[in-house]
Amino acid sequence: MAWDFETDPEFQRRLDWIERFVREEVEPLDLVFRGPSDPFDPARHGPAHAMAPLKRIVQAEGLWACHLGEDLGGKGLGQVKLGLMNEVLGRSRFAPTVFGCQAPDTGNAEILARFGTPAQKKRYLEPLLAGEIASCYSMTEPQAGSDPAEFTCRAELVGDHWVISGEKWFASHADFARFLLVVVVTDPSVPIHQGASILLVDRDTPGLEIVRNVASGLREEIGRGVHGYLRFTDCRVPKENILGRPGQGFEVAQSRLGGGRIHHAMRTVGQLKRALDMMCERALSRRTKGEPLAAKQLTQEKIADSWIQITQFRLHVLYTAWLIDKHQAYTREVRREIAAVKAAMPAVLRDVVYRALHLHGSLGMSNETPLMALWQLVPEMGIVDGPTEVHKFTVAKEVLREREAAPGLWPTYHLPERIAAAERRLAASLELEVGNL
Ligand SMILES: Cc1cc2nc3c(=O)[nH]c(=O)nc-3n(C[C@H](O)[C@H](O)[C@H](O)COP(=O)(O)OP(=O)(O)OC[C@H]3O[C@@H](n4cnc5c(N)ncnc54)[C@H](O)[C@@H]3O)c2cc1C
Repeated sequence: MAWDFETDPEFQRRLDWIERFVREEVEPLDLVFRGPSDPFDPARHGPAHAMAPLKRIVQAEGLWACHLGEDLGGKGLGQVKLGLMNEVLGRSRFAPTVFGCQAPDTGNAEILARFGTPAQKKRYLEPLLAGEIASCYSMTEPQAGSDPAEFTCRAELVGDHWVISGEKWFASHADFARFLLVVVVTDPSVPIHQGASILLVDRDTPGLEIVRNVASGLREEIGRGVHGYLRFTDCRVPKENILGRPGQGFEVAQSRLGGGRIHHAMRTVGQLKRALDMMCERALSRRTKGEPLAAKQLTQEKIADSWIQITQFRLHVLYTAWLIDKHQAYTREVRREIAAVKAAMPAVLRDVVYRALHLHGSLGMSNETPLMALWQLVPEMGIVDGPTEVHKFTVAKEVLREREAAPGLWPTYHLPERIAAAERRLAASLELEVGNL
């Protein structure tokens, strides 16, 4: 019997250590270094200096870069344990980087480990896993995000080089990444799922220009964000800089996006718990009409609804992680659950964070608590890695795949036919029943 909701005591001790370490050692960095690229850009001197000793401690504890399986050179923790760990790390902006498992580097490392040649692994994966450099994954285009069939950024093989032309949009961390994984159309004569490839492009390659660094949300000035609007003009990269085979880009991307989405969801559980903690502390502390807010039934409903939604979401995330561990692949079943979790995430965040904000009154609306930053995550989580509609479509498609239309005029659950069939089957018993009347 494989159902088990308990964390083994040895791993629980490690989680307790992580919890204490993040709270005492990492969260102060969140409070001091608040620039958009601070946790992610290895060249930011202050944050890098503060993080260096913490990273060494994490490495000595054997908790560095836990997202990769043993076959890919990682710790092989598995997704369930990683999920529990990410719940803690998700509470802090710096913690994922201090533990070597921040997006988008995690997904990039995963596909480099899976599909990279030995030379690509040496040049890109090793320094990435060591936390020495940052990377970028660039797929979205200004005119197309959700539908890859609309992608137009092209790469043609000319002699020994791929020549890239086109634009990309919202490429997180492009500005300070050492290299970019760029999804390009290499064969426009076939459907995009067979005609796209991923190229490794060094950041300083001539012909790669950052038109603008775009910020998400209201916080930063125009041009100061971390999401690159990119233009490629006859940008040449060596022929061997292709990841996987020509035309294999979507297969490679799929194996990355699945992991990325579930890791976002794991960190979101941490953020939800943090919002609930704030909500409860406020409800117990703030008094109105002679009693704490927590004594009001309408407040209790907010707390109860939040607890229920968080617990349901958390169990779904952990179940999905368990499925990934079981199948060791992004099977249809796994993809359905990842899509379901991804689609559920913004709504749970919206409900829980809104209640927490609302219970804090004007303080909640101010920039003096972490709540408004959490609020910004609501729409972000509905868009990043694909909009909710597209994931719901995946869930529905997979659910419907296992069902069939009714064979005749009436549904298979139409009661008159079912009752007639059951009566024929139980005729003998029915006769006795009639005899008793
Ligand atoms: C914080 C953040 C970080 C990101 N980082 C990266 C990155 O590093 N690299 C990268 O390549 N991209 C990145 N993105 C971009 C992201 O992947 C895209 O925004 C996403 O895929 C949606 O594409 P779009 O923005 O073009 O929206 P669109 O495709 O224009 O969709 C807009 C809206 O149209 C509707 N819609 C779209 N398709 C359908 C459909 N099939 N059915 C019904 N309704 C639909 C939905 O309401 C959707 O929200 C990031 C985005 C965010 C917010």
